[in-house]
Amino acid sequence: MRALFARHALLPQGWQRDVLLEWDVHGELTRVAPQAAPPLGVARADYVVPGMVNLHSHAFQRALGGLTERAAAGADGGHDSFWTWRDLMYRFAARITPEQIEAIAAQLFSECLRHGYTSLCEFHYLQRAPGGQAYARPAETAERIAAAGHATGMGVTLLPVLYSHAGFGEQPLRPQQQRFRTGVDDILGIVDALGVLRGPQLEVGAAPHSLRAASIEQVRELAAGLPAGRPLHIHIAEQQAEVEQSIAHTRRRPVEYLMEHIGVDERWCLVHATHLNADETRALARSGAIAGLCPTTEANLGDGLFPLQDYIEAGGRFGIGSDSHVSHSPVEELRWLEYGQRLRHQRRNIAFTPEQRDIGQYLWQAALRGGAQATGRKVGALEQGRRADLLVLDGTHPNLDGVADADVLGRFLFCGNDNLVRDVLCGGRWVVQAGRHMAQDAIAQRYRQAVHELREVSQ
Ligand code: ZN
Repeated sequence: MRALFARHALLPQGWQRDVLLEWDVHGELTRVAPQAAPPLGVARADYVVPGMVNLHSHAFQRALGGLTERAAAGADGGHDSFWTWRDLMYRFAARITPEQIEAIAAQLFSECLRHGYTSLCEFHYLQRAPGGQAYARPAETAERIAAAGHATGMGVTLLPVLYSHAGFGEQPLRPQQQRFRTGVDDILGIVDALGVLRGPQLEVGAAPHSLRAASIEQVRELAAGLPAGRPLHIHIAEQQAEVEQSIAHTRRRPVEYLMEHIGVDERWCLVHATHLNADETRALARSGAIAGLCPTTEANLGDGLFPLQDYIEAGGRFGIGSDSHVSHSPVEELRWLEYGQRLRHQRRNIAFTPEQRDIGQYLWQAALRGGAQATGRKVGALEQGRRADLLVLDGTHPNLDGVADADVLGRFLFCGNDNLVRDVLCGGRWVVQAGRHMAQDAIAQRYRQAVHELREVSQ
């Protein structure tokens, strides 16, 4: 039965009652009809919202989550920072095999689906074998991510990463970065090889890693070589040190420099963009590009706080990502996004517009619109022609039982820690039912095996 009757469903125009949703064999919504009569024999749900987009992921880092939370020696903790964390992450990345990448990605995707993400953009930079030699199939590891997407039902946008330098000024890569080493032609070759996998549940774009790892000429060349309409993502202005290095080498701040030299438009997602001045904030908002915000990782790594209020006022678009995967929940990501701003401004209720003053509803729908744009896929809303990606929230939970439509997202995002996502439909397929992923046990078994192997190598 490819239909669902929702007593309450969040459509682009807001909450609607008695919505009949139908989709076709390819997983595309064919009908979204409010105020419908309940048809006989069709499954029913209390509260239905569109599945969320996770626009920034490095899947292999899932296995590292929670293992880097120990202060280094010395009274000052050795000044633990993004950069000391990165060294630990490099040591881990140096050992991992394609089979382990697939097992870890499948575990991550199943967890993300259970918490309400139905699309994910994989910013994939482990292109080479441990030691830095090319695989016989240059797209080998990216294909493993696609396989994990297929096995779990997750909608995936693969972004093979251009990574040529260790820092501004085309500094040579360090030994521990050799696994990531690629040039523009390598990435366009991988994009080409992945072309056969494209379909409604999988898109392929590309990502210059950062202005540290790719020169501005390379960024321009990659953007020009990628087929039209495909998404382009880049890490930018995540750390103050990166801003200072950019000014030292280019006399420009990173976002300023990118916008001056590259026609940043709706194809682009600028991941983090944490450190913006007022001009950059307005220019990014005007460009139509997406700011890819990853609040739990940015907090974990001590990055800083994005100027969300000014950016929203300037009409900026944004989405959310779980990046290093210290969280697998869009609820936690959006809660942190809002709470970070409240702490910064010492007041309440920051993320809203004059048209949408409900914080939960604004955050969910804005992150959906921005996230959908960043995927290059037809997702992000319950409307005809988009993917049938939706969450059935647990209407029997004390947080939701009998609440008015207007309070559902407030309850979902800002009350307690129970996972209220009961069932998940992704690409027209029920991948989570009663809180369990369809292949949860087999996926967890392979993940445990992969982590066990990695532990043995490290001992
Ligand atoms: Zn990242």
